[in-house]
Amino acid sequence: MSKEHILIVEDEEDILELVKYNLTREGYSVTGAVTGEEALKVVASSSTDLIILDLMLPGIDGLDVAKKLKENPNTRKIPIIMLTAKGEEVDIVTGLELGADDYLTKPFSPRILLARVRAVLRRHLKKQEDQTEIMIDGIKIHLGRRIVQLNDKPVDLTFTEFELLVLLAKKPGWVFTRSQIVDAIHGVGYAVTERSVDVQIVGLRKKLGELGNYIETVRSIGYRFKEIE
Ligand code: CA
Repeated sequence: MSKEHILIVEDEEDILELVKYNLTREGYSVTGAVTGEEALKVVASSSTDLIILDLMLPGIDGLDVAKKLKENPNTRKIPIIMLTAKGEEVDIVTGLELGADDYLTKPFSPRILLARVRAVLRRHLKKQEDQTEIMIDGIKIHLGRRIVQLNDKPVDLTFTEFELLVLLAKKPGWVFTRSQIVDAIHGVGYAVTERSVDVQIVGLRKKLGELGNYIETVRSIGYRFKEIE
């Protein structure tokens, strides 16, 4: 497993050290910050997979840090586990509404903390996979890596074929007219015309082999990706 980078923001040194010790021992890469300002600097300068955020901090408090992180598109998706003291229920609710994923009330046991960390990271990873992959029958499309696999074997698509497949496969059952397809796909260095869409479809179907049947022609309208019941 890769080493996830966890940032722990806590001004109480003994808690900071305890959390750092336990997470490091589990194989995570851990950075500590004692103020909100410092935490925001760490997040801006390194890739962070999870933040453990104490709410009571000197300077900008934890809720403000969470708010800033959630407002910034670059940091919005980093999961947050809040650390709170007893009697901060209002802050817990505010934090969860801001988008924090979970919380722990002090004092907490390291084992509970580790379980929460693992659960939040797992949930987050699952969410990311859902957003970056389309899997239909034997067709697997990795959007970010621009890779298509047919029954686990990679297939080589052109730029336009890939775009075309993603457009259709994202909305099974949805009919796209040729002109909608032209609008949605931007060819590299050449314009896609309505006529060339038909040519691209023929090429794409051929490369998909038997699975090419998923791309259906809707007579005198356009194309759609077959919807599976
Ligand atoms: Ca504190």
